[in-house]
Amino acid sequence: MSQSKQNIKNGSCPVYKKCGGCQLQNLTYEEQLRFKQNKVVKLLKSFGRVEPIIGMENPYYYRNKVQAAFFTDRKGKIHSGVYQSGTHRIVSVDDCQIEDRLADEIIVAIRKMLPSFRLTTYNEDTRKGFLRHVLVKRGFSTNQVMVVLVTGTPIFPSKNNFVKALREKFPQIITVVQNINPFKTNLVLGDRQIVLYGKGYIEDELCSCRFRISPKSFYQINPAQTEILYGKAIEFAGLKGSDTVLDTYCGVGTIGIIAAKHGAGQVVGVELNGDAVRDAIQNAKANQLNNIRFFKGDAGEFMESVAEEDKKPDIVMMDPPRAGSSEQFLSSLIKMSPKTVVYVSCNPETLARDLDYLRKNSDYRVKKIQPVDMFPHTQHVETVVLLSRK
Ligand code: SAH
Repeated sequence: MSQSKQNIKNGSCPVYKKCGGCQLQNLTYEEQLRFKQNKVVKLLKSFGRVEPIIGMENPYYYRNKVQAAFFTDRKGKIHSGVYQSGTHRIVSVDDCQIEDRLADEIIVAIRKMLPSFRLTTYNEDTRKGFLRHVLVKRGFSTNQVMVVLVTGTPIFPSKNNFVKALREKFPQIITVVQNINPFKTNLVLGDRQIVLYGKGYIEDELCSCRFRISPKSFYQINPAQTEILYGKAIEFAGLKGSDTVLDTYCGVGTIGIIAAKHGAGQVVGVELNGDAVRDAIQNAKANQLNNIRFFKGDAGEFMESVAEEDKKPDIVMMDPPRAGSSEQFLSSLIKMSPKTVVYVSCNPETLARDLDYLRKNSDYRVKKIQPVDMFPHTQHVETVVLLSRK
């Protein structure tokens, strides 16, 4: 048994109830997996057999992206932590059992540094003060760390000394970014960004490919399980050298780039977030691929226009956000009629809805369903589905 498994008893998190982030902490890990398997089976059994969920070997400290909100209490003490699930109340957390330990250490260190630099925390009611959030991303395979300081104002007194002190404590930090968010909003990151140190991004490696990640780009938060997830997606795609692959909702291009490395003939990616598209273009270059192109735009609109073209893709990979895909996307998919569709989903409810649309409106049928546990201790479950025409 690994060290962390010995140290952690189920439900041992002191803020388990208050925080609400880990809904399944009261269950053993085996029970959690059974719970998730049952959930997927219940929602998807009418489409086909559900393979047993692939669990995580050591289901702790897996998050490579950690976010903390900051506030000062009435006694003047500074706290950092997470929002209580479904509320705007902050629960103080110093070390979370599912977050990267180094990221948590960095957040605590920043909190302790604030008073000596005379930096305050931002108050959302008065809209005064300085630090709102800290976001830390770490490349688990490169050990590169990015710190994003989200501030209510652009003015950052003694910023150079602050960054220097932070880097002295944590030499793994290769870039520090100030993100300015003066708005009344639930979003953590604002629009304006200033790179205070380094290049403004980190890199990580997955499935033998290298990826650049910017503050605002989506990147899977559990790299160990992501390799398994992407491995399944590539296996399901059954790539041939002549295949043209569409990677929709592509983020920084991970799935498409791995597909290109695994022998796809041509790859085209589409993604709404401009920063992620920029990263994807760089990532294709960094992996020495010239058979891959990326477009910024809505995946549904993009699908509609590609469905009108003569040369149609052979394989469509889709990895939409929790809300699932759109009818515009799915109806265009049917029109495009690729031989294979691989649907990667982080929400089995919207997955079931979209599969049902395809069943009712096309001759696509589900061939394989593989759940993967990307988010141990939480209620979330990821699923990869292979579809082809009857
Ligand atoms: N496949 C990537 C990203 C998956 S997350 C990976 O594995 O890392 C879903 C992505 O869809 C996010 O990057 C998000 O910015 C993007 N997205 C959300 N809505 C979209 C839309 N309507 N059209 C295209 N991309 C969208």
